Amino acid sequence: MILHVDMDAFYASIEERDRPELVGKPVVVGGTPEGRGVVAAANYVARQFGIHSAMAAVTARRLCPQAICLPPRMQYYAEVSKQIQGVLQRFTPIIEPLSLDYLGAEVVQRFRPRQPQAAKPPRPKPASTTPLGSGMVIENTTPSAEEFHDEVRCTSLW
Ligand SMILES: [Mg+2]
Repeated sequence: MILHVDMDAFYASIEERDRPELVGKPVVVGGTPEGRGVVAAANYVARQFGIHSAMAAVTARRLCPQAICLPPRMQYYAEVSKQIQGVLQRFTPIIEPLSLDYLGAEVVQRFRPRQPQAAKPPRPKPASTTPLGSGMVIENTTPSAEEFHDEVRCTSLW
């Protein structure tokens, strides 16, 4: 079984987590205040103005002139990504980071109970009091089981 973890608006969510005064305001990571470059991440408030990742920053600025434009802190985002990998490592050593905000984790051994009464996997402790959100898809890759994908939202894990 593979757990696909896709962090929500990752870079922008980290900035919001670290700077609560940004919450509720349009936040764009990437580009420049002069409108150069491209958007690396936009929070959900900014997305309501039509801003999205990989959009030209000049377009984002035109759509939402009041957006707060922050320079990317890629090294820091990489550290946070490592922390998230650390949470997943409580369940499995088999983790494949496909990007800073997208991880795959093989969890079949951990989630397959050895005893009937041990059916529930342990819940990880929240790593943060101001959590980052993510989407997760559980992909069942066992050949004997029917194919299924189960998508869940998680806002308290990280
Ligand atoms: Mg994502």
